[in-house]
Amino acid sequence: MKKALVCGAGGFIGSHLVTYLKNKGYWVRGVDLKYPEFSKTKADEFLILDLRGRKNCRKALSVNGGFDEVYQLAADMGGMGFIHSAECDIMHNSALININMAYIAIKEFKVPRLFFSSSVCIYRDMKKGEKEITEEAAIPANPDNEYGWEKLYAERTYQAFARKYGTKVRIARFQNCYGPEGTWKGGREKAPAALSRKIAEVQGDSGEIDVWGDGKARRVFVYINDLVEGIYLVMHSDVESAVNIGPTEDTSINDFASLIAKIAKKKIKIKHIDGPVGVESRNFSNKKITSLGWKPKYSLEEGMKETYLWVEQQVKRRGKSI
Ligand code: NAD
Repeated sequence: MKKALVCGAGGFIGSHLVTYLKNKGYWVRGVDLKYPEFSKTKADEFLILDLRGRKNCRKALSVNGGFDEVYQLAADMGGMGFIHSAECDIMHNSALININMAYIAIKEFKVPRLFFSSSVCIYRDMKKGEKEITEEAAIPANPDNEYGWEKLYAERTYQAFARKYGTKVRIARFQNCYGPEGTWKGGREKAPAALSRKIAEVQGDSGEIDVWGDGKARRVFVYINDLVEGIYLVMHSDVESAVNIGPTEDTSINDFASLIAKIAKKKIKIKHIDGPVGVESRNFSNKKITSLGWKPKYSLEEGMKETYLWVEQQVKRRGKSI
């Protein structure tokens, strides 16, 4: 039985990855600062550890016979509101996790394979309709925020350790991921969950919601099940450089909100207010991931149906978020 360590297993993507690996027959240890809030699938073992500390990284990695695979998803993370207000926390906490995990997992424990979750936030801002860029065109770099810079630094840290100590490091840059069982309130939620919550909180079948900015920014979204399949494919591929995971079709935030309103069967008026918007547009190649056989199974509408219904259930169960 293969053994996998999932760092950040208490979070949105990490908890779904645990389920995926368990279904594939792995023995899985999850590590995080907290237990998963929603997931029903349990890791075989779950350790509460702060991975900013070297001793805790060693505890996470210590297992009889060693881990076959390590998935590093732990990060101080949130949506645009969080990324803009917590840049020191991101630069400090996520960098410490990654510097220590690279050193301990690769140099000391010599794990055979390590996956690192990067982000398309490492790319520069793009104009709408601009020609797509490849993974390699990320350099010269000009990410829009510190979250992107930390990810870029971490990518290079893992790659440097891989070159020197021989671990097979695999890196994926995720598009905006959405789906059930993610953060939906509290300030760290991302646009799909935040918009779903606002629409679910509208009483009756019509109302108004706030949207940050003019709603014309364009984004690509990837459904959680498709993303997790992509992670597994990248981890088991021979591709040593970073790989984007996500479809190529983008949507404006205004159209995205209208899609959710349609799913909710509500008539929603959008009120544009000041707020952190992030980049104008992004257009990345997904040729590398599709060449590995990856194809999204969920359309945005199908994925958002699952997501909205789940968020609506949370709103009904737990009451208003504010
Ligand atoms: P998440 O916040 O739900 O999960 C991250 C987890 O890391 C959290 O459970 C958190 O408690 C844990 N963590 C933070 N600091 C820690 C520490 N010091 N020690 C141990 N655990 C710690 O976020 P997510 O959406 O599941 O993202 C997972 C990974 O994917 C992150 O690295 C994130 O940057 C990356 N990513 C996510 C998206 C997305 O759209 N969600 C997009 C691009 C990249």
